[in-house]
Amino acid sequence: MDIPGVLLHPPGTPSRGAVLDIGLKCPHSCAFCYYSYLDGSESQFAGLRTASLRSTEDCLEIIRLLAGHGLQHLDITGGEPTIHPGLPEMVAEAARLGLAVRCITLGQFLRRPRPEGTLLETLLAAGLTNLLFSLHAVDPVAFKETCGGSMESVLAVMDSLDERGFQYGCNTVIMERNRRDLPAIARMAAARGVHVVNGIAFNAYHAWRGQTRAEALQASYTAIRPHLEEAAAVLDAAHVVLNLRYVPLCAFPSLARHVVGVLGVPYDPVEWRNRCLNHDMPPAHCAEPLPIPASGVREIFAFSPLEETLPDGTRLCGMRGDRFKLFPVQCKECPCLPACDGVDPVYLARHGASEFAPLALETRGPLLAARLDYRPAFLLKTHPLADMRTAAAMCSG
Ligand code: SF4
Ligand code: SF4
Repeated sequence: MDIPGVLLHPPGTPSRGAVLDIGLKCPHSCAFCYYSYLDGSESQFAGLRTASLRSTEDCLEIIRLLAGHGLQHLDITGGEPTIHPGLPEMVAEAARLGLAVRCITLGQFLRRPRPEGTLLETLLAAGLTNLLFSLHAVDPVAFKETCGGSMESVLAVMDSLDERGFQYGCNTVIMERNRRDLPAIARMAAARGVHVVNGIAFNAYHAWRGQTRAEALQASYTAIRPHLEEAAAVLDAAHVVLNLRYVPLCAFPSLARHVVGVLGVPYDPVEWRNRCLNHDMPPAHCAEPLPIPASGVREIFAFSPLEETLPDGTRLCGMRGDRFKLFPVQCKECPCLPACDGVDPVYLARHGASEFAPLALETRGPLLAARLDYRPAFLLKTHPLADMRTAAAMCSG
């Protein structure tokens, strides 16, 4: 790849990405937030408001340890990392150590003034390589209802980045409330300097496990499919990479190459090799890259057979980990099973197993061959002004 500031991560090799959790403190109110009900109360965001921030010294130590472990890409996340007063120092240290550094944010505070300019200008001057925004709606009212933030603020930051030629990414959590808007979100991304969209299907993880409230957020794959396929076509035509996280491979059969599940994450170039959600653990624990066993699948996600019939009559043939994901009986004949996450138990209980059918696709170890051949997904942005979309177009041939 001879586009300046773009690396092609060898598909199928372990990621060299890392994460720094600056702490869970957050002023936002994302309807789907995985840290909802954090303090055990009935107030969805109370725990996020009172959560703490990790000290700048700890964060800098983690960054140095990560670089020492040979990792090359750093995501800084929270909570909301842009409220951390030490963020510019963290970005500068990561850049000094040669890490490509990306900040994951709702983008609400980047225009705040500082003595030397806005926070965005400060971070860019410190060497920030990339930004990953949340883009769950195209309409300002729907945006506010979904996360409590201002769409105008995010778009103003994007405008400013577009003027500079700085490309960036977006996370879009796919929910019942926005599934019909996916093509419009894709068009908005394609018209701006977005180089990657991560479509994250809402799963009832963490505090959502066992919560009936999660049901209102989780749309069926069948209901999502036409809108997502239309969105994918828009992004593909504009050479914007689309990643789909945490769905069974047959959820959207025509989009299987876009899927990255728990099995694929350790090989995805910007995904995290170290532990996340560890703001209360010592730096060495947080920075340690987790080993990938020879099988390519971590023990907590290993497949084991399971002959069982659920209360609704769904017959199972297997599970990943300790019922982290389940496999309905039809999966037994599926050539893709070694590379498939399986189905979320909460999803299965709500929507049943009738949507899932074997996919006649090739696998290579725990990965889908079609994913490995989707080269644009393995491009890594290592310079702020790298032209990722041109690189994706070149990769696509
Ligand atoms: S910005 Fe992140 S931590 Fe904050 S409410 Fe939204 S999803 Fe939760
Ligand atoms: S293993 Fe099951 S859920 Fe996964 S792709 Fe095959 S049929 Fe679908």
